[in-house]
Order: sequence, then C-alpha cells, then structure tokens
Amino acid sequence: MDDKLMLMIPGPTPVPEQVLLALAKHPIGHRSSDFAPIMAEVTQGLKWLHQTQNDLLILAASGTGAMEAGIINFLSPGDRVLVGSNGKFGDRWAQICEVYGLTVDRITAEWGKPLDPEQFRAQLEADTDKQIKAVIVTHSETSTGVLNDLETINRYVKAHGQALIIVDAVTSLGAINVPIDEWGLDVVASGSQKGYMLPPGLGFVAVGAKAWDAYATAKLPRFYLDLGKYRKEVAKNSHPFTPPVNMFFALQVALRMMQKEGLENIFARHQRQTSATRAAMKALNLPLFAPDHAASPAITAIAPVGVDAEQIRSIVKKRFDIAMAGGQDHLKGKIFRVGHLGFVSDRDILTAISALEAALLDLNYDFTPGAGVAAAAKMLTT
Ligand SMILES: *Cc1c(COP(=O)(O)O)cnc(C)c1O
Repeated sequence: MDDKLMLMIPGPTPVPEQVLLALAKHPIGHRSSDFAPIMAEVTQGLKWLHQTQNDLLILAASGTGAMEAGIINFLSPGDRVLVGSNGKFGDRWAQICEVYGLTVDRITAEWGKPLDPEQFRAQLEADTDKQIKAVIVTHSETSTGVLNDLETINRYVKAHGQALIIVDAVTSLGAINVPIDEWGLDVVASGSQKGYMLPPGLGFVAVGAKAWDAYATAKLPRFYLDLGKYRKEVAKNSHPFTPPVNMFFALQVALRMMQKEGLENIFARHQRQTSATRAAMKALNLPLFAPDHAASPAITAIAPVGVDAEQIRSIVKKRFDIAMAGGQDHLKGKIFRVGHLGFVSDRDILTAISALEAALLDLNYDFTPGAGVAAAAKMLTT
C-alpha cells in the first residue's frame, strides 16, 4: 500500500500533519511586517526548547552547516582543539576542524562505547599555558546509539577556564535534558529534521557570551555562516538572507506543539520509548550496540548475531514500509538502528517491534515470538 511509510530512522524523522500543512501555505516576504512576528515567536520558542537566554540563530542549512558555523565563527587557524571522536559525527567534527587548519587532538573511544571524561580531564589539566581553545563533543552519537557524558566533560572544561565547549546536540536536543544556561554550554548546534518534528532544512546554533568574545577575535573566513550577521538581524526579528519562510511557518507550529506537551513530558516520552525498544531487543536475544548507562534517547543500535542486519531491514521495509537505519562506515551490514526521535508515539514503537519480530520469523531466527512486543509493552505502561 502506498503512502504508509513509517520513518524509524534518526533523521529525517516523522512530521505531524499540522506541521506539513503549514508548509503548504503561500510564502511571504521575509522583509514584510508579516514575517517579523513569526521570527520573534520561533526565536522565543527555540530559547525555551534550548533552556537558554543566549542568542539562538536559525540557518538555512542541515545540521552539518550548524556545526561548521560553530567552528568558523569562534576559532582561528592553528588553534588547538580537543575533539571527542567515537563515531561518525565525532569524526565529522574533527574533519571540519582539520579542513579549516585547526590543530586537532582527538580523544577517541571504540565505536559503541562512550567517551571517557577522564581523558578530557587529563588533557585539560595538563594544558597549564591554556593552549586548548575549544573542546568539541557530540552529545548523542547517532551512528552508534551512544550518549556521551556531556555534563561531566563540560565540568572539566569549566575547570580549565579558557576553552569553549562546542556541542553537537543534533539528536539530543528535544529528546533529553540539555540545559544550556545551567551547564554554561558556549555553542550548541542542532538541525530541524531530528528532534524538532520538522523536515530537513534548518540548522540551529545557540551562542553564549563567552563564545561571542571569541568571535570578536576569531580569524577563520566566514560569510554565509557568519553568525554575527544573524545576531544583528534577529535583534530586529529579521534574517540576513532569504530564509526558507515556509519552514518558519512549520517551525512555529512544531514549537507550539512541543510547548503544549512540555519539556518534561517530551523527555519522559523519549526515555520511555528508549527503554521499551531496548527491553524488546534484549527479550529477542538481539545484542544492543551501546551499553545501558550510555544509551542515546534518540536511537537504538542493534548488532545481531546469527541473522543479517541488512536482511532484517530489507524485510521490514518491503513488507511493512517501515524504514530502519543501517550501519555507517565500517558498521555497514553489522548493525541496524531504530530511531525513536521527535514525533514518535508509543504505538509506533509497538508497531516497529512487531514488524521486526515478523522479519525474524521469516529469517528463522531463534527467539520466542511475542517476547519483544511483550517486553516493550511492559516498559510503555510504566
Ligand atoms: C544528523 C546528524 C548531524 C547532521 O547531519 P546533517 O545531515 O548535516 O543534518 C550531525 N550530528 C549528528 C549526531 C546527527 O545525528
């Protein structure tokens, strides 16, 4: 049957009908008096979602554009940075920094394991002449389903005193608590197609006072992604370039939905669905790729044994029109990933687990039929 595609990937994520309908309106002029109140409302809404009074800037870009903006506005060629790298997106941070001629020290962990905050502490404490200009971390590492301990790493950055903390919160924002002001996070990047219940197209960057100080002397070239331009315009409820105005209509609706649900409820929903998904996999003898204490609230990665990850994905897609994600880079074919980020209901989780069980039956996998659904259902009631 057509038109029943269910996205259980970590982005793009499902979009509610009322958000889709907002996209179908006629565009308006971004310099018109109609646009300014929308800009004002979405900026306030984003600050609420980010739990910050810092500047909140909206870019016509994917998450990577927001990440790149987070580097080029605050650093200079040759600057030393510490980059946490335990998956594809941590690697991406390092690549962006290298392209721009920064001196990159990677703190690595095996893919599927969280970064060790003590390694950050050791490097930061050894840096007595304060050469480290920034510590750059991916909070929820989407490629592996690992949640890094941002709170502890950030504490060590604060103890260092000089370095900025620059964060990829692309699959943690709107899924788990990221209290930007309380923790003092300097730069936080995210993207619309993840926890925002929106299609791809917008990137978001939250920028604090210490980062703006660095901006004043940063020497990397910047033009379209020059955040100073966005800051100046947002003060007038405007935008420096032609923004995708329909995405702003959609953002307005999505933020209203999120405010109605409330941050605590949004986080609780993601936690419940993460627990349900993980409980189901355990009940099905499907090994989880990330440990319980470092489980992403947005994505669960599974490394099946005795059954092929790509075959599972293929059956679930062909027979049930449910898209699950595969592995990236060297994990291709070794893992599959189930997204539970954004506009996902408990029903979606039960549906996805049922479809997974049906695929496992097809593949003659050794498991107790119904065990996954039962385990998930139990977690969803608590
Ligand atoms: C999706 C994602 C990004 C950004 O990817 P884009 O395709 O550029 O939107 C960055 N970091 C993480 C952790 C992600 O999940």
